[in-house]
Amino acid sequence: MRIVVVGGVAGGMSCAARARRLAEDAEIIVLERGELVSFANCGLPYHVSDEIRDRAALLLQTPESLRAALNLDVRTRHEATAIDRGAKTVTIRSAAGETTLGYDALVLAPGARAIRPPLPGLDLPIVHPLRTVPDADRIRAMVADGARRAVVLGAGFIGLEAAEALRARGLDVTIVELAAHVLPPLDEELASLVDAELAAHGVHRRIGIAASAVEQSPGPEHAVDVVLSDGSRLPADLVVLSVGVRPDTSLAKDAGLDLGPTGAIRVDGSFRTSDPRIWAVGDAIEVTHAITGAIGPIPLAGPANRQGRMAAESILGRTVTPAPVLGTAVVRVFGLTAAITGASQSALDAAGIEHFTVHLHPGHHAEYFPGAEQIHLTASFSPDGRLLGAQGVGKAGVDKRIDVFATALRAGMTADDLAELELAYAPPFGSAKDPINMTGFIAQNVLAGTLELWYPSELEDAMNDALILDVRSRGEFVRGHLKGALNIPHTELRGRIQEVGAAADGRPVRVHCESGFRSYLAHRVLSQAGFDSANLSGGIMTLLAARPELELVTG
Ligand SMILES: Cc1cc2nc3c(=O)[nH]c(=O)nc-3n(C[C@H](O)[C@H](O)[C@H](O)COP(=O)(O)OP(=O)(O)OC[C@H]3O[C@@H](n4cnc5c(N)ncnc54)[C@H](O)[C@@H]3O)c2cc1C
Repeated sequence: MRIVVVGGVAGGMSCAARARRLAEDAEIIVLERGELVSFANCGLPYHVSDEIRDRAALLLQTPESLRAALNLDVRTRHEATAIDRGAKTVTIRSAAGETTLGYDALVLAPGARAIRPPLPGLDLPIVHPLRTVPDADRIRAMVADGARRAVVLGAGFIGLEAAEALRARGLDVTIVELAAHVLPPLDEELASLVDAELAAHGVHRRIGIAASAVEQSPGPEHAVDVVLSDGSRLPADLVVLSVGVRPDTSLAKDAGLDLGPTGAIRVDGSFRTSDPRIWAVGDAIEVTHAITGAIGPIPLAGPANRQGRMAAESILGRTVTPAPVLGTAVVRVFGLTAAITGASQSALDAAGIEHFTVHLHPGHHAEYFPGAEQIHLTASFSPDGRLLGAQGVGKAGVDKRIDVFATALRAGMTADDLAELELAYAPPFGSAKDPINMTGFIAQNVLAGTLELWYPSELEDAMNDALILDVRSRGEFVRGHLKGALNIPHTELRGRIQEVGAAADGRPVRVHCESGFRSYLAHRVLSQAGFDSANLSGGIMTLLAARPELELVTG
């Protein structure tokens, strides 16, 4: 059997390697149009930053090492240009000219291409995507040649990694993002924390605005101006283009394979395309989102690698049962980690999925052990208690929690399950009630009616129609509070509950503290005393993160 794989990086190489482990007698040929195979594209930003100094560290394998270890026939600088499905052949362009190659099974793993919006000037040599080792080489060379100002177009995962890398190299960096906040997959109240971290490290952000052109600069002092839609101009010696990717599927399209509306290749549950002898994996295919059911590409390395492995199994006659994709992702932004799994609140809203969200700010390990760092977490649940998604931002312990949430999502866990998870604990590592358990407890309380939440989006209604009760200490209140709020520290509430009744005068009470914990205690006192009470989810910390423009009253 001859298996031909198009694309020799994440999905393609996983497929080829797995196929060899299952079938020693198969002929396996990998076609890669670039000069390198099996390189660590996820490591590219860290080569730009110089954290990975040695370029060779990114090159995980060579055609020679793959021949030696797995008897793979890896052909670099070989581009598949056409597929003849009737004859079962691939046309290849290489230095040797045009040739054809027959296949018994063909695997398409061509990945994605950087989106290039139709803006004048994006073809200038100073504008680079960051997708390949040669891209990283060129960006490093420009930095070495004295580039001082960089503009990064797009504040997604790769854009932020590029911004961090270039700042680490001493450049003055500006990020331009069309969406309403940086890291658009992150919910707003967490994205603002990332934005503040970028600001603290001197990265300029132009958010909610589009670039309209890149123009050659007339002056000698910089190379181009990035022109924004409001007419402002950002001088730059280097522009990184990272406004997203689109599936690289022209080969599949020309071969008449079924594509979805996003241009991604349609596959069945065995990664077979509409042609039973052609499989496809990775950034180029449509997948189903595990929570929203949305169908489209989700360009991540983990799914691509696992799909490659399963395609090999399918080709060799085994049954595979891929799980829908959760979109679990993590990024480091200077001193912060931001991570997501499952559906964000905005994705749930867009999909019309009923949910409620809890916010919490626990320490990443026991608060009394030195070095505890706050984690800012959100988690969304269905009305029957099923976990739908979780996000986190913080200096430490975020990746661990999001990985537990991802595992819980895959297992279909509920608030009750999270509350009962038995996680490793000693003071330097966690808490006896881990943030994951706490998330479950809070959601359990909401589901049981023990806790009623209100949210930053309801602030105006609450200020107009309810008594805002601030149960923080007097000192915290004086430093900044909501206009018109009554301050009764939670420890004094039982003795001063008449004051609440008098001030509320029949209106509901909307209680809050700094993080939502003390006000939860107050909420229990109030609701058991007969008040219509609700507690601000995540407290003033979440409120200010969701509404950074909000001005508190001092004194
Ligand atoms: C800078 C960067 C950082 C990233 N960081 C992360 C991260 O931290 N975490 C994460 O989960 N994901 C990350 N990703 C995404 C991840 O790398 C991709 O999701 C993954 O590599 C997709 O695998 P793939 O096999 O579909 O495509 P790729 O790995 O992109 O491989 C596709 C290969 O196919 C080749 N090819 C295309 N067409 C042809 C043709 N016609 N003939 C021959 N060869 C062809 C291409 O040259 C390419 O080498 C990052 C990506 C980049 C660029």
